[in-house]
Amino acid sequence: MGKFKEKVIQPILDSWSLIVGLKITGKYFFKPLITVHYPRQVIDDENLETYGGHVELIGKPKDPATPKCISCMMCVTNCPSKCLTVVKSKPPKLTAAEEEAMKAAEEAGEKVVKPKAPKNPAKFLYDYTLCSLCGTCIDNCPAKSLKFSNNIYWVATSRKEMKIDLLARLKEQATELSAPAPKTEAAPAAAEKEA
Ligand code: SF4
Ligand code: SF4
Repeated sequence: MGKFKEKVIQPILDSWSLIVGLKITGKYFFKPLITVHYPRQVIDDENLETYGGHVELIGKPKDPATPKCISCMMCVTNCPSKCLTVVKSKPPKLTAAEEEAMKAAEEAGEKVVKPKAPKNPAKFLYDYTLCSLCGTCIDNCPAKSLKFSNNIYWVATSRKEMKIDLLARLKEQATELSAPAPKTEAAPAAAEKEA
């Protein structure tokens, strides 16, 4: 009886997981595909909207190349992985003549308003190799200047390439947006009509 159990019953019991696996495979084999054969096929735009890729900046509606960021440092402080570096902008440098004029005005007791630094950051760097995509920076940004990108096809061959200059990226995106759409060839029917 012991040998029967070892040679017959046990192999049947052991193959149970195989049967369970085949059952699942069979169930999904005839269902429509939910994956795509990249690069022959790509994800449609609707599904890309829900993809959470690396963090990126959001531009101002009227000036998409400039981020909504006000350099408050909230994202830098709250990032658990320390993958964001923001450098605040400095006030514009005064010319020698302007400095002289300001000094003279101060000495004369006039109220002098010194130029303020722009709120937009001078540098905004992001290290994707450290990011856990936790979303804390996005949730804590008071200016709503950060979001997850839908940059699904982005790849890098080195860690260095995964350190992204987010200001440069925003400028590139704005340039792409403002570029004129490529001319499409006239549809055959329309072309025939014109002839
Ligand atoms: S998603 Fe999280 S880990 Fe990534 S930059 Fe934002 S706060 Fe840091
Ligand atoms: S991205 Fe948002 S949280 Fe980060 S520095 Fe700019 S305004 Fe502050």
